[in-house]
Amino acid sequence: VKFPETFSSFCTGRDNDWDNRMGGRPVQIVVSKDDHSFELDEDALSEILLQDHVRDKNVVIVSVAGAFRKGKSFLLDFFLRYMVTQGSPDWMGSEDEPLAGFSWRGGCERDTTGILLWSEVFLSDLPNGEQVAVILMDTQGAFDSESTVRDCATVFALSTMVSSVQIYNLLHNIQEDDLQHLQLFTEYGRLALEDAGHTPFQKLQFLVRDWSFPYEADYGVEGGEKILSRRLQVSDKQHPELQSLRKHIRSCFSDISCFLMPHPGLRVATHPEFDGKLSDIEPDFKKQLQKLVPMILAPENLVVKEIGGQKVKAKELLQYFKSYLEIYRG
Ligand code: GDP
Ligand code: MG
Repeated sequence: VKFPETFSSFCTGRDNDWDNRMGGRPVQIVVSKDDHSFELDEDALSEILLQDHVRDKNVVIVSVAGAFRKGKSFLLDFFLRYMVTQGSPDWMGSEDEPLAGFSWRGGCERDTTGILLWSEVFLSDLPNGEQVAVILMDTQGAFDSESTVRDCATVFALSTMVSSVQIYNLLHNIQEDDLQHLQLFTEYGRLALEDAGHTPFQKLQFLVRDWSFPYEADYGVEGGEKILSRRLQVSDKQHPELQSLRKHIRSCFSDISCFLMPHPGLRVATHPEFDGKLSDIEPDFKKQLQKLVPMILAPENLVVKEIGGQKVKAKELLQYFKSYLEIYRG
């Protein structure tokens, strides 16, 4: 299934120069149906994973998940800029360049819950010389009504299972209920992956947006570690349920870290005409983006996807997607 050339600008109301230059588009590969089942668009997924230059490469899959309208797609558009320019020093682009890519800006797909991939797969050379395929994944869903909670849990679980890095995007802070959501989600995943001897998931990257206590814990990764260790701390004084929740989260991932992002400024957060221009974004936010994005996507930091201790090739991922969706059928 192909989008018309102008589909993205139709949704965004923006001209599509940048979209064309980017050589890719967001493709919805998992869609939730009205009856809360999920459907895999196998053709669309095959088109991405089975390209000649991709199919036999080991994959790195970076996913961003979390509640609706918290800047996930906006962030992914910067990931795209980094990958498109292969991390060149000026990867962020010029001050007046509108942002494009995943951001649908509350347009066409508002109410769908599902998983999208960027159609262009990026090749990157690891320090050991191996060339890997880097795939960017966006998730969509609303956490605001009863009937969609299970859908979102499913999307979170699916995206965690197929990704090598799951970025858990949160606003303001890591709250107790964010951790509880995570337990619900990861419980799905753990059951699905029941496999003695291996940690079911790889890297979990908490990303706190609009962090507003830099005097308490500084922006970036160090402040993030401080907050995370506080939130995941297990102590005898806690209710046993809180203790087991924390142990459970630790046991699900081989690596957990946290990054604190400053507020991007009022133009980004509230201005209806905002089109993603760097000049409209607060310097503090851009400074932290310069750290966050390479921390995830620089060749030396890429995490190759493994399932049951084995590296996964693009063509094999297709099969995993199919069997994971099978688990959530019905
Ligand atoms: P998504 O639904 O999580 O993918 O959110 P979007 O990326 O579509 O962004 C939703 C809105 O939040 C847009 O108007 C963005 O301009 C705005 N936004 C993006 N990043 C941030 C952020 O870090 N903080 C705040 N407060 N707003 C943001
Ligand atoms: Mg989005």
